[in-house]
Amino acid sequence: MNVIVSDRRFSDPNRTADGQPRAHVALRQLKTLWLNTGTLCNLTCENCYIESSPKNDRLVYLTRADVKTYLEEISVLNLGVIEIGITGGEPFMNPEILAIIEDCLSAGLKVLVLTNAMKPMMKCATGLLELREKFAQTLTMRVSVDHFDSALHEEERGNRSWAPMITGLKWLSDSGFQLHAAGRTRWGEDERVLRKGFAELFEAQKIRIDANDAESLILFPELDGSGEVPEITTDCWEILGVDPDDMMCASSRMVVRRKGAADPDVVACTLLPYAEGFGFGPRLADSFTTVALNHPHCARFCVLGGGSCSG
Ligand code: SF4
Ligand code: SF4
Repeated sequence: MNVIVSDRRFSDPNRTADGQPRAHVALRQLKTLWLNTGTLCNLTCENCYIESSPKNDRLVYLTRADVKTYLEEISVLNLGVIEIGITGGEPFMNPEILAIIEDCLSAGLKVLVLTNAMKPMMKCATGLLELREKFAQTLTMRVSVDHFDSALHEEERGNRSWAPMITGLKWLSDSGFQLHAAGRTRWGEDERVLRKGFAELFEAQKIRIDANDAESLILFPELDGSGEVPEITTDCWEILGVDPDDMMCASSRMVVRRKGAADPDVVACTLLPYAEGFGFGPRLADSFTTVALNHPHCARFCVLGGGSCSG
């Protein structure tokens, strides 16, 4: 993703380039804690927002011990977290993923796992079935199905990526998991056309997903980082009619483990895993502060675009 940032814009967390007060977002309540299990992935998708691939290990595997520390902090500080979101990379590449999921579920939290449902997930099939037996109501799997047309799905994900995904999706459905899908709107169809196409696919494949339900089938706009965007000032909320509490960073944080770092880092949101100035250090409690909207993504995807990618 190419992001164009001119020298003075998006540099001062408190002031925009023309000296106006920069917009900030306060964390209202930590409802969702995302765990980035590592950026390694079995695929190299064309528009992966986190640039995952079989070689990208900028974010290394989060460990079970790391996650236990955060679960303890959630419990001890009574943070009121409702859900753990698990993302990557492909989470099932992480060798401790099943134990991580189980620990989160055993802590009484809902867990949403994002996966491409291919070989790495199927290698964990036995362990996943055991988790479903114990936590059928609180474990949800969300599979990326970029488009209902196999050729367009493979345009994004590469050759021979469709059939293994369908195998994994059907297995999850047949095995009784709570199941969602995530598609993309990058090919420009009307939402009704997309939902109809997905409904036909799910019916033909006997997959238990309601394509007309916005949560069961979430459709993501493309995160195109090219071109300049205006900086967001404190006046913008009223001018644009946007509520800062609706930004992802008002209700969530993400834990990442950077390659070579001694500890994990809590970052503002899933959209900015690499950006400087959006990390709060290893403790969740230290992330309970405001976020300066000091990155083009803040303007482009959140305030102006209304997108929240993995959210
Ligand atoms: S499967 Fe997901 S994480 Fe992996 S490259 Fe594709 S979009 Fe990125
Ligand atoms: S990209 Fe969006 S969610 Fe992330 S810090 Fe900026 S405004 Fe908040």
